[in-house]
Amino acid sequence: MADMIEDGTVIDGVHYHQHDIVIVGAGGAGMRAAIEAGPNARTAVVSKLYPTRSHTGAAQGGMAAALANVEEDNWEWHTYDTVKGGDYLVDQDAAEILAKEAIDAVLDLENMGLPFNRTADGKIDQRRFGGHTREHGAAPVRRACYAADRTGHMILQTLFQNCVKLGINFFNEYYVLDMVMAEVDGKKQPAGVVAYELATGDLHVFQAKAVIFATGGFGKIYKTTSNAHTLTGDGVGIIWRKGLPLEDMEFYQFHPTGLAGLGILLSEAARGEGAILRNASGERFMERYTPTLKDLAPRDIVARSMALEIREGRGAGPNKDYLYLDITHLEPAVIDEKLPDITEFARTYLGVEPYTEPVPVLPTAHYAMGGIPTNTNAEVLQSNTEIVPGLYAAGECACVSVHGSNRLGTNSLLDINVFGKRAGINASEYVKTAPWVPLPENPAKGIRDLLDQVRSGDGTERIAVIRKELQDSMDRNAQIFRTEESLKEVTELIETLRARYKNIQIQDKGKRYNTDLLEAIELGFLLDLAEVVVYSARSRHESRGGHMREDYPKRDDENFLVHTMAYLTGDPESAEAGEHIRLDWKPVVITNYPPMERKY
Ligand SMILES: Cc1cc2nc3c(=O)[nH]c(=O)nc-3n(C[C@H](O)[C@H](O)[C@H](O)COP(=O)(O)OP(=O)(O)OC[C@H]3O[C@@H](n4cnc5c(N)ncnc54)[C@H](O)[C@@H]3O)c2cc1C
Repeated sequence: MADMIEDGTVIDGVHYHQHDIVIVGAGGAGMRAAIEAGPNARTAVVSKLYPTRSHTGAAQGGMAAALANVEEDNWEWHTYDTVKGGDYLVDQDAAEILAKEAIDAVLDLENMGLPFNRTADGKIDQRRFGGHTREHGAAPVRRACYAADRTGHMILQTLFQNCVKLGINFFNEYYVLDMVMAEVDGKKQPAGVVAYELATGDLHVFQAKAVIFATGGFGKIYKTTSNAHTLTGDGVGIIWRKGLPLEDMEFYQFHPTGLAGLGILLSEAARGEGAILRNASGERFMERYTPTLKDLAPRDIVARSMALEIREGRGAGPNKDYLYLDITHLEPAVIDEKLPDITEFARTYLGVEPYTEPVPVLPTAHYAMGGIPTNTNAEVLQSNTEIVPGLYAAGECACVSVHGSNRLGTNSLLDINVFGKRAGINASEYVKTAPWVPLPENPAKGIRDLLDQVRSGDGTERIAVIRKELQDSMDRNAQIFRTEESLKEVTELIETLRARYKNIQIQDKGKRYNTDLLEAIELGFLLDLAEVVVYSARSRHESRGGHMREDYPKRDDENFLVHTMAYLTGDPESAEAGEHIRLDWKPVVITNYPPMERKY
C-alpha cells in the first residue's frame, strides 16, 4: 500500500480522505479552531455528534471577559482570580493569555453575530459568577457576558453558522476511535485518524498533516453528572492509549447546584443573579464558610461546604440528603428574563415552582480540569517539555493549564474560544511547511479488529451493568471527599470490571446505526479514564481545589505544587494492578502570584 492514498479511494471497504488539518470534535473548541483553519488550509471537522448537539450548547451561565461594561474591571484581576480559584496549580502564563485574550474572544463572537444580553445603553451586559472579583478578592464583580441562561447554545449556533458560511467540511456522526501515528526522524507524529461512520458502519481513514483534538470532557465516569450521555472522553482515551501523558487527571469539578437526585445543572448564574443556598432550617450557611463572597465562592469550596452541611445533619428532605437553592426573593420578571431555562428544568424534572419554592440541589460532576497536556500554542506535550509535532488539543479535553485544580465558572466557554482559536491558527501555520507523514500499512486494522471482537463477543456481561457499577463506585469513592481506602476500593473494582468487560455481549450485531457497539467502545474509554483519575488521586497526598483527601486535608506546596503527568506504560489487561501506569510531575509556571492561603 502506498504511503499516500488519494482522497476518495476505497480499499478493503475502508474509505480514505486527505486533508491538511483534521479537527476531531465540533463543539465550541473544534468549531472555533475550524474558523481559523478553514480559510487557510484544507480542513475537515470529524464529529460523533451533529455539531449543534455538542455539549457546549448546554452551557448556560456565561463567558468571562473583563470588558468593564458595567463596573470597573481589568484582565489582571481576572488573571488573579483564575490563579487563586485554581488553588495556585494554574500555569500563570497561560492564565494571563486567557484573561487578556478574553476581550477579543467576546468581540469576535459579537462580530460573528452572537446575540448577547445588552445593558440599557446597548453594551454587552455582564453578571456575577463565583470567584470573579474586583481588586483581588474585595467583592464580586460583573464579568460574565451572557445570553439569558443559554450562552453556550448561542455560542455553538453562532460558530456553526460561521463555519457554514466559510464552507467548512463536516463529517457528522463519524466516531473517531483511533489516531494513526508514524515515526518521522525518530519521533512519533500523527499521520491521521480512523473513524467509524454511524449510518453505515464503514471505516474511514483521514490522513492529515495536523490533527486537533477538541472532543470535550468525560463526566460519564460518574453517575451524578451535568454532562451529556456522549461525554465519554474518547479523545482523551485515544491519546492515553498512544502512550502520551495525561495531566492533572485527579482534579474533577463538582458543581454545587445539580437538581437533587438527577444531576441536571442549574447554572451558577442563578447565584450570580442573587440566589441563596440554604440548609434545612433555612440558614444561609455559606456565610459561615466564606464570609466575603458567600454563595459566590469558587465551586470547590461551595460543593465541599454543602457536603459538610449534609454530613453534619443539616440537609433537607426526608433523608436530610439535599440542600436548597432559593430564588423566591427575585422578581418573577427578572427570573423570566435572565434564568428562563433553568427554572423550567426545576418545574419539569422536580415539579417545583422556583417563583415560590426553594429548589432541592446537590453537587454534580461537571468539569474535567485535567486532560491532554498542551502548551499555550495548543501543541500537545509528550513529556514535560517536548511537543508532538502536528498534534494539537483545545477545550475541555485539553489541559493548558488555565484551570489548575479548580475552574472558575464562565472560564471554560472562554477557554474553548481562546485556545480553540490558537489551535486553529497554529495548526494552519504548521501545515504550510510540514511534510505529509506516511500512513502505516493497513491503518484501520487495529480498530477493525477491536470492533469485530466486540461485535462477535458472546459473553454474559452487559455494557449498561458494567457502566453503572463503575459510575456508582466513582460517585461513592472518588467524588468530593476521597481517602486512600475509598480510592483503593474503586481501583479494585475497576480491575474486576476490566476483566468482565472482556466477557461482554452486545444485542445489536448489525452495521447501521449500531449505537450498542459504540457504547461498548465508549465504556472502554470510561474504564481507562476512571482508572487514571483514581490512580492520580491516590498519588496526590494533599488537598487542593477539587481534590479533597480527608487523610491529607491540607494543601502541601512543598511537595505537591506540581502537575501530575500520568503515562500508560504497559497493557492494562496483563499487568498487575496499577503497574501499567507511571506518574511523573511537571513544575507549575508561576509569574506574578506566589501561592497564598485561599481566603474568600
Ligand atoms: C450543563 C453544562 C453547563 C455549562 N455551563 C457553562 C457556562 O455557563 N460557562 C462556562 O464557561 N462553561 C460551562 N460549561 C462547561 C463548558 O460548556 C464545556 O466545558 C465546554 O463547552 C466544552 O467545549 P468543547 O468544545 O471542549 O467540547 P464539547 O462542546 O463537549 O464538544 C465535544 C465535541 O467532540 C466530539 N467528539 C467527542 N468524541 C468524539 C469522537 N470519538 N469522534 C468524533 N467526535 C467526537 C463531539 O461530537 C462534540 O462535537 C457547562 C457544561 C455543562 C455540561
